[in-house]
Amino acid sequence: MAAKIQDPQLGAPGCSCEAICGGDEGQSDISSIGRRFRVLDLLIRNSRLRGLEGLRDVGIQDGRIAVVARRIRGDSAKEIDAGGRLLVPGFANIHCHLDKCLTGAWAEVWEEASKGSPEAIPAATRVKERFTESDILERAGEAVATSVQAGTTAIRAFADVDTVGGLLAVKSLLKLRGMVRDAIDLQVVAFPQEGILRDEGTEELLEKSMDLGADVVGGIPWYEKDREAAARHTDLVFDIAEKYGKDVHALIDDNTDPSSRNIEYFLKTAIRRGFKGRVAASHCRGGLDSPDEAYAGRIVSLAKKAGLTVVENSHVSLFMYGRTGGHPVRRGVTRIREFVEAGVNVAVGQDDIDDPYYPFGRGDMLELAFVVCHAAHLGTPQELEWAFDMVSSGPAKGMRLDSYGIGVGNWADLVLLDAETVHEALRLQPARLAVIKRGKVVAETKTRRRLRLKRSVS
Ligand SMILES: [Zn+2]
Repeated sequence: MAAKIQDPQLGAPGCSCEAICGGDEGQSDISSIGRRFRVLDLLIRNSRLRGLEGLRDVGIQDGRIAVVARRIRGDSAKEIDAGGRLLVPGFANIHCHLDKCLTGAWAEVWEEASKGSPEAIPAATRVKERFTESDILERAGEAVATSVQAGTTAIRAFADVDTVGGLLAVKSLLKLRGMVRDAIDLQVVAFPQEGILRDEGTEELLEKSMDLGADVVGGIPWYEKDREAAARHTDLVFDIAEKYGKDVHALIDDNTDPSSRNIEYFLKTAIRRGFKGRVAASHCRGGLDSPDEAYAGRIVSLAKKAGLTVVENSHVSLFMYGRTGGHPVRRGVTRIREFVEAGVNVAVGQDDIDDPYYPFGRGDMLELAFVVCHAAHLGTPQELEWAFDMVSSGPAKGMRLDSYGIGVGNWADLVLLDAETVHEALRLQPARLAVIKRGKVVAETKTRRRLRLKRSVS
């Protein structure tokens, strides 16, 4: 029999968790509510939801979550028994260089790249000289596929825009955006990796990228020659974002220089020009990764005022930094705890997948949440929830994904984990049993566990 569900607009009163279930939480028989009914496309039974006691059934219709209840009577076109496992919104990866991914095997650049970020950029430039559209589509497509299998349902993909590769990367990733849209949301960032003032002609190419349909304007002010050029770079990025009505995502102070303080001008510009909640900044180290507490305090409060999303990439920082200079070894991590405690949105991004900056990565956001717990000393139950948020609701907010999260009326972009709690998910790095995009299962993993112990063990 097909389950009948209430129209999501018609919430029943009296529910203890309105935000999630929209009013039907206590109904054991949803079809008994005498209102307008339709038939469910997908029904996920016995799922555990973060922050709620007991299990819930989640009903999906037309790509959206139509009902959440303790028990939905009947069945549907497709049914999944979660068996008490954790159902969470799809993971979001807010920072990923899909154009460069999987170039690590082009190993002639590695010698230089392994010295640190400033050295890695020229190495990556030479990698870029070999790009073709089919090559980018193949590599980025493979990275998207592994990301989807790991439960990622949205990626903000950076495409280098400069006089080396021209518009090739942005055009290729825009093409990919259309090819994979049923499985994942791609946002394409027009990213001036070589600088705007350092690389004459890039400003025009950025505008052309926006004309082609890029979603976000990127920036990298710290890479310009001096502070004045960095400020001019920031102005130009906001000029273009303003002209095209787009958000800004910059890579800021990605170095170990305590005098690198470009984030201050970036935040003041965002506030002054009315970009509150529409700015993201990755790395945020430089002056923030120094003992200057007064400066850090000022930046944290400016970040709050600007509605900034801070993007941390601990795995890359741990790998890339502190390799020169002896002991004690620096971690290269931004002030995650201070930002979170001040109410600033924090996300963790993959940044690199096997490229001249980082030889690992597979688009698995749970893996990155695991690493950030180590890098930023997150371990209490509350801090583990923070880490989980940093790969789900945090980046979703930064990307301004609409209708995100488990709630009636939201998109059914979901992942069923082979774990019952956030702690277990982080500790065990479990299988992603089902990945659901817009109500359709786009990836599945079957698990079969068999443990054989010899009697002699005892
Ligand atoms: Zn990056």
